[in-house]
Amino acid sequence: MRILVLGAGIVGVATAHDLAEDGHEVTLVERREGAALETSHANGGQLSACEVAPWAGPEVPWLVLKWLGRPDAPFKLSLKADPDQWRFLWRFLLRCRTSARHERIAPNLELALSTRHRLNEIEAQCAEEGHPLAYDRLNRGILRLFHDKAALQEAAELAPRLEAGGVSQKILGADDCVALEPALASSFQRGEIVGGVYAPEDGSGDAALFTRALSERATRLGVNFRHGLTVARIVAEAGRVTGVETDQGFLDADVVVLAAGVGSARLAKGLGIYLPVYPLKGYSVTVPLGDQGAAMPQVSITDEARKVVISRLGNRLRAAGKAEIAGYDLNLDQARARSVFGAVESLMPQIAPLEGGADYWAGLRPMSPDGSPVIGRSGRYPNLYFNTGHGSLGWTMGAGSARLLADVIGGKLPETALGSFGLDRFG
Ligand SMILES: Cc1cc2nc3c(=O)[nH]c(=O)nc-3n(C[C@H](O)[C@H](O)[C@H](O)COP(=O)(O)OP(=O)(O)OC[C@H]3O[C@@H](n4cnc5c(N)ncnc54)[C@H](O)[C@@H]3O)c2cc1C
Repeated sequence: MRILVLGAGIVGVATAHDLAEDGHEVTLVERREGAALETSHANGGQLSACEVAPWAGPEVPWLVLKWLGRPDAPFKLSLKADPDQWRFLWRFLLRCRTSARHERIAPNLELALSTRHRLNEIEAQCAEEGHPLAYDRLNRGILRLFHDKAALQEAAELAPRLEAGGVSQKILGADDCVALEPALASSFQRGEIVGGVYAPEDGSGDAALFTRALSERATRLGVNFRHGLTVARIVAEAGRVTGVETDQGFLDADVVVLAAGVGSARLAKGLGIYLPVYPLKGYSVTVPLGDQGAAMPQVSITDEARKVVISRLGNRLRAAGKAEIAGYDLNLDQARARSVFGAVESLMPQIAPLEGGADYWAGLRPMSPDGSPVIGRSGRYPNLYFNTGHGSLGWTMGAGSARLLADVIGGKLPETALGSFGLDRFG
């Protein structure tokens, strides 16, 4: 089949790659001049099966009120006169229940574990072909750190649910956290940490480096990358999509896959389809460290109180966090971006970034209200598929969702294999 994939982030590139691997004729259309230049560019780097629980939960409305007006608050809401924002917020609010959160853990976990498997598989294939992948992957686990006992207790209660799905976790005291990650010694001495939850099989890696390397393999498999081409609309005729209208003309196809991150909802809207994917802005700071030996962390860390993740990417350290509902605005608020790095300064004050090399970045997570991506066929057009809305977990779930969708499009798996990822779950 001739398939057009829209969007060259981690999700679109992985989808195009897998479809080409299955023998389809694939063209990938991307408005930017290369792959992974939007949300997949500088994310937190965590491959975190241990953190697949959706963000919507009973504590969220109270946290939002508690943080109101605090300039460094992990969450910020800027209300707009935008019906899509209000619609998203309403749906998100309806999901702020424990039962709703639990409901999405098993499906998300399935994608996270299949991503882990896919990354290993693709790494092995590339090495065998003489093009080893280099994306600063570290398989030393993720340690979630807690600063108060109630939050640690809550995480401990969720652990068996994740373990049942195949994610092993250990509940650690503060001293065990330091034994595991000596870079936390100073913070331990100050009594900042009460304990942690350690997922030894999780890890981290640079999503952008991986996406670009995967694009190269996809090119070798025959994917035609059309960078610098903006899709204005998806064209449909007589109940089927026929291709896309771009700023440089029409491209036709048998099948279109919409994987355009936060650009997906607008393109779906052009066909009269409401796709509940809305931007949630976040920041990251990446600093070069050189070789600082034992001062550098070995495991990826989540600071649960500050809602910041910290990943070592080779000789760089990246901290990422914040969640802002502020429409499509990508302005870099320097103070908020800098405050993300505050987590590193507090937990590991011995870290000394090299002068002048800090890279500040803002990105828009393509969030769905229930914390799971939308994967599957559009109800209205049988040859239009979605693979989007991975929110805060696109690196963790992207390669798995790509394989799943490619298997369904190619008929290797029945559509029922998509389970509850379809758009129809939103009614
Ligand atoms: C601060 C932050 C930290 C994060 N940390 C993590 C983490 O630690 N672990 C994790 O798993 N996830 C993390 N994420 C989430 C993850 O980065 C995203 O879920 C993922 O990058 C989404 O990938 P995507 O391919 O769907 O979107 P994108 O990477 O944004 O790709 C979509 C592409 O579509 C293109 N496009 C859009 N519209 C059009 C159009 N009309 N025509 C042509 N092209 C178009 C865009 O240019 C873009 O390149 C984080 C996100 C942020 C912001």
